[in-house]
Amino acid sequence: MLETRRLNDKNKVIVTAALTGAVTTKKNNPNLPTQPKEIAESALACYEAGAAAVHIHVRDDEDNASMRYDKFEEAVGLIRGAGCPVVLNLTSSGGQGFSWEERMKPFIELKPELASFDAGTMNWLNSVVFMNEPEFLELCAAEMIKAGVKPEIEVFDMGMLNTAKYYIKKGLIKEPAHFQLCLGAPGGMEATTENLLFLVNHLPEECTWSAFGIGKGANEIMMASLALGGNVRVGLEDNVYYNAGQLAESNAQFVERVKRIAGELGRTLATPDEAREILGVK
Ligand code: ZN
Repeated sequence: MLETRRLNDKNKVIVTAALTGAVTTKKNNPNLPTQPKEIAESALACYEAGAAAVHIHVRDDEDNASMRYDKFEEAVGLIRGAGCPVVLNLTSSGGQGFSWEERMKPFIELKPELASFDAGTMNWLNSVVFMNEPEFLELCAAEMIKAGVKPEIEVFDMGMLNTAKYYIKKGLIKEPAHFQLCLGAPGGMEATTENLLFLVNHLPEECTWSAFGIGKGANEIMMASLALGGNVRVGLEDNVYYNAGQLAESNAQFVERVKRIAGELGRTLATPDEAREILGVK
């Protein structure tokens, strides 16, 4: 059996709050922030609760999944304008049917520290194709280097991890890379501790990583990641329930729980500046 690998700083935990996402709606949980003002308020509350980073999606005026640049600009402007120092991570997927230009414009223009980079195409089980063709990924990686934005490599299965390693080898992604291990997506690897451990044990020699589980696997992956020295992502993008049958009150409520559990394990939450240092971003 492989020896368990950790790679990360064992004392500090970078908590990312995934505030909105593209899939969940206010019908699933009325506390989901969807418009820029709500997104910014949620980001501030998560920062105050201990999150070092926020992962941002936007919605159109009807709350549908969107890559509208004006919405990103407004949300980011409100967060920065409030003097909130949280690390910004903008999505580069946003949902279905967006052009490459729409997917890349927010990180090119707004220059967040991080932007998501989905390292492969996947069938979202029986519904849609999560399209990340090689030409898009190569262009996206090059644009991120040009904009000084670090990719947060989202990995939904082992194939995507191998694809990411290929781009690292080709120099399209610079080392040390930063990974977000996304478990429990329909069509991806299930949200189990075994799968998390498998992915962690196959990460590149030099990297940082974080993980989350979607839906019912969220708590297991959060706790396993904390135990393994990982960073964690929590929030209403991935999970509308705080516990089975109990809707979450807010994104910050998830952050507060991570802080308590991490504290019991002797780990403290990284501040945004500590997260920047760990991730090597400005
Ligand atoms: Zn996302």
